[in-house]
Amino acid sequence: MSAVGVGRQTQPEIDPTADRLGFQSLMGGHGLQQNEPLIFELAGDDPALWAKTGVDLPVDPEAEDVSDLTGLVRTAPLGLPGLSEPEAVRHYVRLSQKNHAIDLALYPLGSCTMKHNPRLNEAMARLPGLSDIHPLQPQSTVQGSIALMHEVGRWLSVLTGMPAVALPPRAGAHGELCGLLAIRAAHEARGNARKVVLVPTSAHGTNPATAALAGYGVVEVAQTLDGRVDIKDLASKLDPEVAAVMVTNPNTCGLFERDAIEIARLTHTAGAYFYGDGANFNAIVGRIRPGDLGVDAMHINLHKTFSTPHGGGGPGAGPVALSAALAPYAPKPWIVADGDGLRLEESDAGDSLGRMAAFHGQMGMFTRAYAYMLSHGADGLAQVAQDAVLNANYVKARLKGVLSAPFDGPCMHEALFDDSWLEGTGVSTLDFAKALIDEGFHPMTMYFPLVVHGAMLIEPTETESRAELDRFCDAVLALAQAAKAGDRARFTQAPHLAPLRRLDETQAARKPQLRWMTVAR
Ligand SMILES: *Cc1c(COP(=O)(O)O)cnc(C)c1O
Repeated sequence: MSAVGVGRQTQPEIDPTADRLGFQSLMGGHGLQQNEPLIFELAGDDPALWAKTGVDLPVDPEAEDVSDLTGLVRTAPLGLPGLSEPEAVRHYVRLSQKNHAIDLALYPLGSCTMKHNPRLNEAMARLPGLSDIHPLQPQSTVQGSIALMHEVGRWLSVLTGMPAVALPPRAGAHGELCGLLAIRAAHEARGNARKVVLVPTSAHGTNPATAALAGYGVVEVAQTLDGRVDIKDLASKLDPEVAAVMVTNPNTCGLFERDAIEIARLTHTAGAYFYGDGANFNAIVGRIRPGDLGVDAMHINLHKTFSTPHGGGGPGAGPVALSAALAPYAPKPWIVADGDGLRLEESDAGDSLGRMAAFHGQMGMFTRAYAYMLSHGADGLAQVAQDAVLNANYVKARLKGVLSAPFDGPCMHEALFDDSWLEGTGVSTLDFAKALIDEGFHPMTMYFPLVVHGAMLIEPTETESRAELDRFCDAVLALAQAAKAGDRARFTQAPHLAPLRRLDETQAARKPQLRWMTVAR
C-alpha cells in the first residue's frame, strides 16, 4: 500500500446492495472493515512489546561465553516486530483475504496462464525426501532428486522434440537470456557474435529486454493485418548481422504463427537461430513439437504450462530446450549418467556458456511439474492444449457480438479484444477492467499486446468449467450493457467493493514512496 506511493486511503462508502457476487464474503468480511496495518505497526509503539517473540528458544547453560567477541555480538535489538504466533498468522491470513487468487475465482490474465495448481503437486513437493535435502549434500545421497530432474528434462525434450534441455533458469525471462546466451556462444564459436535480434511488434516485453541484456540491438518486425509475423518484412531484415529471430507461438494475440516453418527456413538460410518463446506452450503441448517447426531454443514456463504456482505463489522455473546445434553451449550443471548413478556435471569442460545461477534450479518446481506430467500422461497433456483452446474460443464466441475483436476467426488459448466497442461511452479499457474487480474477477490483461488499441487479452485457461466461464462471460456482458447504457459512475469510480479504491497512479509515478514510513496516528 504505502509501497506504491499513495499512502493511506479512507474507506470507501459501500452500498451493500451493490455487492452483486458476495464480494464482501469473498473477502472474508475483513477487507472492507479495516485497513490492515503493516506488521511493524501491529506490534505497537511500546518498545517493551517489541521484545515479545512467537517462539521461546531455550537458554543453553553450556553455551560458550561470547561476550569477548568484540564487534560480533549484537548489542541493539533486531528491530523485528514482537508478535505472537496467532497474531502473525492472522495478519497474513487477513492480508491474503484482501487479494484476488486463483483459488477464489477465474483469473483471466492473458499471457500469464493463471490456472489451477493441483494440490497433488503440493503434496509431492512436500515429501520429506524431496524437500528436506540440501544442494550441497553429497550427490550419492540425493540420487532420487537428480533422477527426478533428469525425468523432467526428458519429458520436456520429448514434448518439444528438441534433444537437450537446460533446467537451471529461474523464470521465463531468465530462460530467454539462457537461450540467447547459447545463441551468442554458438555465433562466437564461428568468430562473429553478430549484432541484432529480430522481434515482432506483438512480442512480450521480456523478448526485446532479453535481447538487449544479451548485448544485441533489437529490430522490430511488422505484423500482418491478420495478427501474424509479416514474412516479407522479416525477409527484408534478415541480413548477416542478425543473430536470432524471436517469435512467440502461439503469439500474444492468441494466434498461431502459421508460417513458423517458413520463418525457420528464412532464419537458418541467413545463418541465424530461431528462438521460440514457449511461455504459451499450454496451447500446443502434446499436439505440436516446436523442434519440428525448426525452433533452436525455447524456454518453457513450468509456472504456466505445468501448473506450478506463480504470481506471488512461488518462484518460477524456465527450463530451455535446445536444438542439436545449440546443445553444446547449454549452461552447467547438466546431468550425466555415471556408472549406475546420475551426476550433476559442474566442470568447465566443453563449450558450456557457464552458470545461469547458483546450484541446479528450482527443485520444488521440478517436483510439482513432474507430478503434473505423470498425473496427466501424454494423452492428458494433449487434452490440456485442447481444453485451453476450447475454453478461449468459448469465451470469444460468447463475447464477440458485443466486444470488438481485432482479428477474425478462432483463437488459440486466449481471446483478444480491443476498445473500439467502448467508443462514445466515456468508459476506458482501464475503467472496464477495474469494474470487473467488483464482480469478483481479476481483470484481464490490459493494453497488451501493444499492437492492438486498448487491448483486453482474456486467457481463461483449461482448468475452468463451463459454469465458471459462463459466470465470467455473464459478468462481462452485463458490464458491457451498463457501459453502453451510460452508467459511467460504475466504471470511473471502480472498484467500489475492493478493500482499496482506485489508486492515484499519477501520484504513484510522480512521488513514489518505496519504503515503510511511520504514519501519524
Ligand atoms: C510470461 C511470459 C514471459 C516471461 O516469463 P516470466 O516467467 O514471467 O519471466 C515471456 N514471454 C511470454 C509470451 C509470456 O507470457
